[in-house]
Order: sequence, then structure tokens, then C-alpha cells
Amino acid sequence: MNQVASEATATSYGKINVALRAGPVDAHGYHPLRTVFAAVSLPERVHVRASDRLQIEVVNDPHGVVPRDETNLAAAAARLMADRVGRDPLVEITIDKTVPVAGGMGGGSADAAATLLALNELWGMGLHRRQLAAMARPLGADVPFAVVGGTALGTGRGDHVLPIATSRSLPIALALQDDGISTARVYQLYDELHPGAIDPHADDDLVAGLESGDLERVGRNMVNDLEPVAFAVMPRLQQIRDAALREGALGAVVTGSGPTVAALGADDDHARRIAAAWGAQGLCARAVAVRSVPAE
Ligand code: ATP
Repeated sequence: MNQVASEATATSYGKINVALRAGPVDAHGYHPLRTVFAAVSLPERVHVRASDRLQIEVVNDPHGVVPRDETNLAAAAARLMADRVGRDPLVEITIDKTVPVAGGMGGGSADAAATLLALNELWGMGLHRRQLAAMARPLGADVPFAVVGGTALGTGRGDHVLPIATSRSLPIALALQDDGISTARVYQLYDELHPGAIDPHADDDLVAGLESGDLERVGRNMVNDLEPVAFAVMPRLQQIRDAALREGALGAVVTGSGPTVAALGADDDHARRIAAAWGAQGLCARAVAVRSVPAE
């Protein structure tokens, strides 16, 4: 059995959905999605170490809300990887979190992705990121992107990932909430709106803006089909979006099913000013300025 190291570390990042389009639910009960993901500078660092059993440790989880048991997505990732090589998942996994929990920013997915990357090294599997991303699909629709990183188009259930060659990083302000929104509830209300099929060219202008580094073009194409529902469930999200636009944000949108709102600034200072304005107006629990992160 390969065991090329006794420990390994890998990092994946939280994401925003620069665009998110959802079609009508399919025969399997899933929503077809078309989304442009961007990894942002909130790292999830995962350390794996050979152990006599599968164990999860979590650092930077002040409210103790991240599961330490087998329901943690990182544990599911370890079991999946172990099955693949025909060994037992005898590892201690330490997760160092910076992504807010249940914020629509894919923190759990990033932990699963970083676990796959770290075990790939620990167990000397030599798989490429694209192979790991394909393998990751059963773990959740956002996990393949969290493996690939950077900026990418997600189709299918969001789990078929095509990297976008961006020419500059996006300065982003994030408005974070303490209370979450139920993803299931958002989709249930969305279905009641009877959404139409997704236009496969709907994001062409956005992708062109990302490729050429035209931030204004990116900003005016930021969109989330789920946003009207998220606004209905948590009305202050609309105030947050509007406040960002008043501060001159190039675009502002709820990310995932919420409740985090992401606003695009013209530069890092502008993103910081938008975050400061949200903070001064008391519209969110916490506001931070981040940047999109390129793929490794
Ligand atoms: P979703 O993919 O549902 O949009 P999210 O990005 O909003 O998720 P996460 O921070 O990934 O939110 O966590 C959602 C829930 O998943 C948590 O409330 C927690 O119970 C569970 N969970 C499982 N594993 C993890 C993990 N490693 N980190 C955080 N939460 C996890």
C-alpha cells in the first residue's frame, strides 16, 4: 500500500457565484444550473495525518457549528478517496476554517476538496485535479469547482466545470450574516415561480468580460435567478444590494442561495469602501473585502 508521506496539507477556497441560473427541476428532482464560480481569498486549510481511525478536528469554529462526526463533508471525502484505493480512511483531518458556515460560500465543499487534494498527496495517488474533480461529484455539486478553483463555468448541476482564463483578479466586498437561509426553502419557493429553461448563451458577455478583464462588463452581468426568493425570505439582503449599488459597486448579487451578498468594486479600495458602508449602516453581521483567487 502506498503511503508516501505521514502528513500533507492542502488549501481550497470559498466561492461566490458571479452568475447563477437555475432551470426547472428535472426528472431526478435536481435543478439544472449554469453558474460562473469565482474562488475568493477566504482559504480553508486542511491537514491530514495518518492515524488509527478517522477523526475530524476543526480550528476557527468559534460557535462550534461544524460537525466533528462522519457527517462532515471532509469525512465523506476521505471515505470516497479510501474506497477508490481500497484502503481504510485512517486519517486525522484538521480543518482550519475562514469561510463563514452556511453562507452560500461553499465552505464545506472547500473542506471536502482540500481533503481530496491532501489525501492524493498523503497516499501518493498522483491524480490530476481534473480527475479529482470528476471523482468529487457524489460529494456535492460545488465540490468539483472547489477542487479546480480559480474562475470557472459550472453546468449540469454546477458540477461539470470548465475553467475561464481570467486576466485580472476581482475586488469583492462580502456582506455576511449570522443567520442562515435554508437552501431547500429557497429552491421550493423558486419552483413556485415556474422558471423557464436556461439560455446556454446567457453568460457569454460575462465570460468575455472576465477573459478581457473588463470589470464594468463583469459587474453589469452579475445575476442570480434565486435572488428574488432570497430577498423575499430575508428582505435586508435587498437593502444590502441597494446600498452597494449606491456606493458605486459595478454589480452586486446574492451568492448561492444566500444569505451572503457579493459586490464588485472597481479596485481593492473601492471594495473596502463598500464593505465599510455596509458596516456603518449596520446592515450585516460582518463585512469583508476579498479578491478572486487564480487556480493553482
Ligand atoms: P451549501 O453547499 O448548502 O450552499 P454553504 O456553503 O451555504 O452550503 P457550508 O458552510 O458548506 O454552507 O455548510 C452547510 C452545512 O453543512 C453546515 O451547517 C454544516 O451542518 C454542514 N457541514 C458539513 N461539513 C461541513 C464542513 N466541513 N464545514 C462546514 N459545514 C459543514
